[in-house]
Amino acid sequence: MKIDNHFDVIIIGAGAAGLICAIESGKRGKSVLLIDHSKKIGEKIRISGGGRCNFTNLNTHDSKFISNNDKFMVSALSQYTQYDFIKLVESHNIKFHEKKLGQLFCDESSQHIIDMLLAECEKSGVTLFKEKIVSNIIKNEKFYSIDLGDTHYISSSLVVATGGLSVPKIGATKFGYDIAKKFDLEIIDPSAALVPLTFSDNILKMCKELTGISQDAIVSYGKTFFKEGMLFTHRGLSGPSILQISSYWKLTNEIDINLCPNLNVYQFLEDKKKSHSKQDLISIISDIIPKRLAISLSNYLNIKGKISEIPNKVLLNLASFLNSWKLKPTGTEGYRTAEVTLGGVNTDELSSKTMMSKKYPGLFFIGEVVDVTGHLGGYNFQWAWSSGYVAGQYT
Ligand SMILES: Cc1cc2nc3c(=O)[nH]c(=O)nc-3n(C[C@H](O)[C@H](O)[C@H](O)COP(=O)(O)OP(=O)(O)OC[C@H]3O[C@@H](n4cnc5c(N)ncnc54)[C@H](O)[C@@H]3O)c2cc1C
Repeated sequence: MKIDNHFDVIIIGAGAAGLICAIESGKRGKSVLLIDHSKKIGEKIRISGGGRCNFTNLNTHDSKFISNNDKFMVSALSQYTQYDFIKLVESHNIKFHEKKLGQLFCDESSQHIIDMLLAECEKSGVTLFKEKIVSNIIKNEKFYSIDLGDTHYISSSLVVATGGLSVPKIGATKFGYDIAKKFDLEIIDPSAALVPLTFSDNILKMCKELTGISQDAIVSYGKTFFKEGMLFTHRGLSGPSILQISSYWKLTNEIDINLCPNLNVYQFLEDKKKSHSKQDLISIISDIIPKRLAISLSNYLNIKGKISEIPNKVLLNLASFLNSWKLKPTGTEGYRTAEVTLGGVNTDELSSKTMMSKKYPGLFFIGEVVDVTGHLGGYNFQWAWSSGYVAGQYT
């Protein structure tokens, strides 16, 4: 029941997680105030999936998430599954398709997902404030109180859904972490994830030359590997396999790239030496990798000429390069282009069943601000929907 500036639930951040939480709290008859500092709601949803929002993944499972507590997400993901969200999407007649690997995208535009969430908010009676700056959050015995300019609002539940740090130009801030710190909750250091990797010197030069070329590859870091597309860019390497490994890679360490994942390259070269001894090496390796990449690699390794004239030792070196290229990135492109933020509010501080703080009843953290990060492929939105839904049942 709303009395003046008193709401049952105040949610800060009207992104994916905040919107679902508002809808669910509203459905339970709670009065809900949803606040965002941005002018436009759901900007990350709008730009996601190349404008078509990869809104969930059929293969959602805890193994697709990274967190200090690798089982923390199990409860929320089982309380609100990918099929629950699909049902919601279908109920709004939004057409979608599976692109690959269980990834579901809108047929037309991500705007349909935003419109659906806003329509559901309206149905649930949610009060939405845009372009509002929250300050001075205080907890007294019964209520949380916040200031919006010179107006004071109170609520029994306060939900923090301010997301991570990626893409600051569309509204990302560290506000959620500041609130956590204010309440003395531990933060796992945030860092950019699902982000292109950068290189220096000769490797950067090669990447620049090869900008736009993509190749299926297995990219590994330690025991973790991803077999997906890889893309050369004028800043370094990108594409799904690189973005995926960036969430695991640690500065100063090497990654390993297998540019011919379905082929034993040395065996292939040995066979070609016998069957096509007069053929030029570049033309031979152009059969297994793009020609521009073949030329660039042969320059980089300084290996040229007819295959018959190239010693097996040198072919072995080329083969190990193609099957296991060891590279040391100098860093990442950072939050400017990262899709998500690794780290966040330590899950030890929260109940996995409700997303409520263990120390402060009524204080919730949901979505990307929490130390739960999904792989590429719709998992991050599913985490936002699941954690938002769960909090919405307990606000
Ligand atoms: C380019 C790009 C593409 C992506 N594509 C996909 C994809 O296809 N599939 C997928 O699963 N994931 C994708 N992601 C990741 C996904 O967008 C996020 O994981 C998800 O949006 C997180 O939801 P959230 O609600 O926690 O945070 P957000 O959606 O980021 O929402 C946080 C909200 O809080 C607001 N906010 C921040 N600070 C304040 C403040 N101080 N006061 C008030 N409001 C504040 C912001 O304006 C924002 O509206 C993509 C991300 C990017 C950057």
